[in-house]
Amino acid sequence: MTVQEFAQKIFSDVREMSKSALGVTRLGYTEKETEVLRYLESTARNLGLACRYDVAGNLWMTLRGKNPNLPGIMVASHADSVPEGGNFDGLAGIVAGLCAAKDIQESQRQLQQDLNVVAFRCEEQGLIGSRAILGTLKAEDLQRRYRPECKLLGESMQDCGIDPQALVQGKAYLYAKDVAAYFELHIEQGPKLELSDQAKVGLVTGIRGNVFHRSIRCVGETAHSGAIDFEFRHDAVAAVAELFSAMRSHWIERLKAGEDLVYTNGVVNTPASQSFNIIAGEVTFSLDIRTLSVETRQAFYRCFKEEAAKVAKTFGVKFEFDEAFYIEPSLSNPSLVEKLEQAAAQEAVPVIHMASGAGHDAGDVAQQGIPMAMIFVANQNGSHNWREAMRMEDFLAAVRVLTRALKNFN
Ligand SMILES: [Zn+2]
Repeated sequence: MTVQEFAQKIFSDVREMSKSALGVTRLGYTEKETEVLRYLESTARNLGLACRYDVAGNLWMTLRGKNPNLPGIMVASHADSVPEGGNFDGLAGIVAGLCAAKDIQESQRQLQQDLNVVAFRCEEQGLIGSRAILGTLKAEDLQRRYRPECKLLGESMQDCGIDPQALVQGKAYLYAKDVAAYFELHIEQGPKLELSDQAKVGLVTGIRGNVFHRSIRCVGETAHSGAIDFEFRHDAVAAVAELFSAMRSHWIERLKAGEDLVYTNGVVNTPASQSFNIIAGEVTFSLDIRTLSVETRQAFYRCFKEEAAKVAKTFGVKFEFDEAFYIEPSLSNPSLVEKLEQAAAQEAVPVIHMASGAGHDAGDVAQQGIPMAMIFVANQNGSHNWREAMRMEDFLAAVRVLTRALKNFN
C-alpha cells in the first residue's frame, strides 16, 4: 500500500466512524473518540509500532529507535473534533505521523531515537489531553461543560476510565528532558496558503498569544431617540462604534509597521429591551488581541484602554472591564524550523513562513520548554465547520517534508 492509499484509508475509515448529520462529530472524552483511538491503535500495531495509553488516555504509537534511552521525537495532534466539524482538523497530524513512521519503517531505516506518534484527546475543549500530561490542567477545568447538553469534563473523563483527580494535582507526566523535538502538522484554518501562489505548505513561526475580555460594558444613558439632541446624549452604541473605528486605524498602522497583530470584537450586544427609538444606555462587547509578540500585545492593549478613556470623555459614558485573560505566545524552535526548511528544499516542496492564529497542543508543549515546530497545510472553506477540506496532494507534500526532516534528524 502506498503512503497515499494508507492515508486515504485512515481518513475515510475515521470519517465513516465519526460522521454526523453534517461533517464529523467526535467530541473529546466520548465513546466516539475512544473508538477512533482504538482504530488508530490497531492501524499502528499493523505497522509494527508499540502502543500504549498514558494517564490522560492519549494514545502513544512508538517506532523504536536504535537508542531508546535518548529523548524521543514526538509527532502529535488531536483525535477529537468540534460538533459537526471537519475530518482533517487534528486527524491530519496523526495520519501524517503514521505515514512518516510507515515510510521510515519501509525504507529499512532506523532513527536514533524513538519516534512517538501521539494522538491527543480533547484538544478542542481547551487542549485538555496535552495539558493533563504536562501538569497544567486545573481542578476548575473538570467542572466545565463544553456545551450545555454535555457532561462535566471530569465526568466524561471518568466514563472513559480515566481518573480526573490524578490529572489536576500539578504533576507532570511528560518532561521537556524526555523530548528532543515535537512536530505537529495541521490544516491552516485560514486562507493564507490557499490563496498563496507560492506555496501550499507553511512553516509556523509561532502560535499567537492573546489578551481577551469576554464582556466589557460601556454604560451611557438610555433615552428617547427623538427627544434628546446631540449635545445631551450619552449614546453607548455611538461611543463603542467610535472606539472600534479608532482601534481599526491603530491596527492598520501597526500592520504597516510590520508587526504581527489581529484584533477582534466578536460579540457586541445591546440589552434585549433596546428598540430603534431608544438611545442605547448600555453595550457589552468582547475584545481579543492576538500577536506573536508580548510587547505588541501590551502596547496595543494599553492603546485600547487609552482610546476607551478618550471615548468615555467625549461621549460621557464609562467603560467597565471584566477580568482580562492572557495566553502567552509560543515561538517555534528556530533550529527545528530550519530542519523543516532544509527538508522542504530537498523534497522540492515550496514553503512560506507564517504565524498560527489558532491555539494548538503545540503551544502548551512549547510553554513547558519542549522544542516545537508546526507544519501547516492549505485548507479550503475554513475550519470548525463541516465544509472544511484539504487536497491530498498538499497533505502528501507536507508529509514528505516531515518524513525527510525525521530521517535527517541526527
Ligand atoms: Zn485542530
